[in-house]
Amino acid sequence: MTTKGETVVALEGGRQNETLEEKAYDGVGVSAGIAIGPAHVVERGLLDVPEYSITADDVADELTRFDQAIEKSIKQLRSLRVKAAALSGAASEELCYLLDAHQQMLSGSRLVRGVQDRIREQRSNAEAAVQAELSEISHAFASMEDSYLAGKIEDVREVGGRIVRNLIKSEYKAFSGLPSGTIIVAEEITPADTALMDPARIGGFASALGGAEGHTAIMARSLGLPAVLGVPSLAHAVHSGDTIIVDGVRGRVVVNPSEATAAKYQRRREALLRRQRQLDRLRGVPALTRDGVRITLQCNIELPSELPLAHQAGAEGVGLLRSEFLYMNRDDPPSEDEQYVALRSVVEGMEGEPVTVRTLDVGGEKLALSLGHHISPSVNPALGLRAIRLSLKFQPLLETQLAAILRAGAHGDVRILLPMITTVSEVKRVREVVDKVVRKLNRARVAIAEPVPPIGVMIETPGAALAADTLAKTCDYFSIGTNDLTMYTLAIDRADEQVAHLYDPLHPAVLRLIKFTTEAAAKAGLAVNLCGEMAGNPRYTALLVGLGLRDLSMAAPSLPRVKQRILSLDVKEALKRTEQIMEQSDSGMIATLLDDFNALP
Ligand code: PEP
Ligand code: MG
Repeated sequence: MTTKGETVVALEGGRQNETLEEKAYDGVGVSAGIAIGPAHVVERGLLDVPEYSITADDVADELTRFDQAIEKSIKQLRSLRVKAAALSGAASEELCYLLDAHQQMLSGSRLVRGVQDRIREQRSNAEAAVQAELSEISHAFASMEDSYLAGKIEDVREVGGRIVRNLIKSEYKAFSGLPSGTIIVAEEITPADTALMDPARIGGFASALGGAEGHTAIMARSLGLPAVLGVPSLAHAVHSGDTIIVDGVRGRVVVNPSEATAAKYQRRREALLRRQRQLDRLRGVPALTRDGVRITLQCNIELPSELPLAHQAGAEGVGLLRSEFLYMNRDDPPSEDEQYVALRSVVEGMEGEPVTVRTLDVGGEKLALSLGHHISPSVNPALGLRAIRLSLKFQPLLETQLAAILRAGAHGDVRILLPMITTVSEVKRVREVVDKVVRKLNRARVAIAEPVPPIGVMIETPGAALAADTLAKTCDYFSIGTNDLTMYTLAIDRADEQVAHLYDPLHPAVLRLIKFTTEAAAKAGLAVNLCGEMAGNPRYTALLVGLGLRDLSMAAPSLPRVKQRILSLDVKEALKRTEQIMEQSDSGMIATLLDDFNALP
């Protein structure tokens, strides 16, 4: 990571009657590549919506459209309230209170009146009117500097967001109306926002918040979008339409570059693309070390739309499908049929290669709107109702998802993977649910995977790693998730830019937990792979192979570089160096030993 700072170079021209300065900001480069293009600044908490003017004749229709969206929002809130009332305990009371407050905001509130005025007087389309009104209310609240009121603005935004979603319905794709090559700039870009970015249209993105191993960063790498996160007050320094450079390699954002700077970055960008094209030639080459050890390289995907990237990289299957992305950017969870259709498209798209579907892993920093009422605010979300804990608490969610996975398994090689497992009893409970769902589908004569797919466990907490020998008796394979394993072992939030420099998978404690897991797997005769971000960084490849791993799964664009490292690797030498590394107690020394080894011809 580079240090945060700012350099300023004077530059004339650009924005009307204004002197534009070239400014450079440093942050955390999370996805390699260089993007140069027009900026689109997204205001925090607001959805990206279409904006257009309406004619005087259209005003009445636009007001009706707005009223219908309000009606629909009220209906949704009423049905959520019925569900909330059926929950037990304090959570139910709290949720009902919140949902009542949201309903009140939909009748005659300042928000509603303000939007109606904007449609009538400014001839604004309804979505843009809601956004403009939300923006004005937010600024008014912010200027009061009252923390209680500041908290309430989130509720107003949530209600506004619901109205907007009901106005634009599902056909509208955020960011889709932007000119090709646009660079998104925001205070915060969530994993769900990233899932809406089409890499064919969006050039890259930059934000003030976020660390290198959070899911927003992971999505950027999966989509091959250059990205820099953790750039303080970036959204205030950039205006929509400014030319901006995102250097994801060095973690730098340049706003209004001079001609000379733009030309320099353009040359670097072309050199990077040339190198990428050379690596693409490795697509059909098997990942074989110099001494003939075969390593399996699969890819991690979040959405079916990433399949072409997996093919382009020559992936030997999907080692991790983060199914939670199917639940994002929508108001209701996907039905069994919807999930089945999405998963089947991936399974068929992989043409016989295995597809590992991980059950829902929401909670922590990954929030899915559609599950809003299942996840109450938590004091410490990363340690709260996340992943398998949520699925086991709301079993119908798990049953629906398992049914979809089992049905998709009728069309190819599917595996089930369970996130955030910490105890043997969780695996046993999931197995019981799988059996129940299988019986139900069999009774209904629905085609499902036969035999029942292998059930694997993510090893991503220190507890799971240290209990790997006992977990091995309940599951069919392990998948090591070094992103969370590092976070939970070192007590460092993977998505927090303030501690990003402390996040270190080379810490001896993390490496020992990986080793303990691979040894437990070997003893039990269990397959083990690694699907955390370490797998996609060629710097770690020799060490991971030395720790006993032969299956790695990573973001598709990372795969060719890892393969290239494998082709130059001698496993016997990697083992020797790993033994030396495992004797060290200092991560600095470990890094030196590893980097020296990587630099050997
Ligand atoms: C991990 O934790 O390493 C992992 C692969 O899962 P995720 O990044 O989705 O939490
Ligand atoms: Mg994880």
